[in-house]
Amino acid sequence: MAKIAWVDKPECISCGLCVGNLPDVFRFDDSGKAECFDSFAATEDKIQSEAIETCPVSCIHWQE
Ligand code: SF4
Repeated sequence: MAKIAWVDKPECISCGLCVGNLPDVFRFDDSGKAECFDSFAATEDKIQSEAIETCPVSCIHWQE
């Protein structure tokens, strides 16, 4: 089963790194928090290296 990325929104500090690196995967919601709207628009490797490992507060996670 494919993994889905999700953002623990209360922890997000809206730095914009994930949205900037992977705009087809992450976007800001109406309250300015990042959310994953299409986890399949990038490879798991890219999401891992350019979002999960880049997020300064480590609030992006995999859900199996
Ligand atoms: S990289 Fe992390 S803190 Fe920055 S916008 Fe994305 S989820 Fe929020």
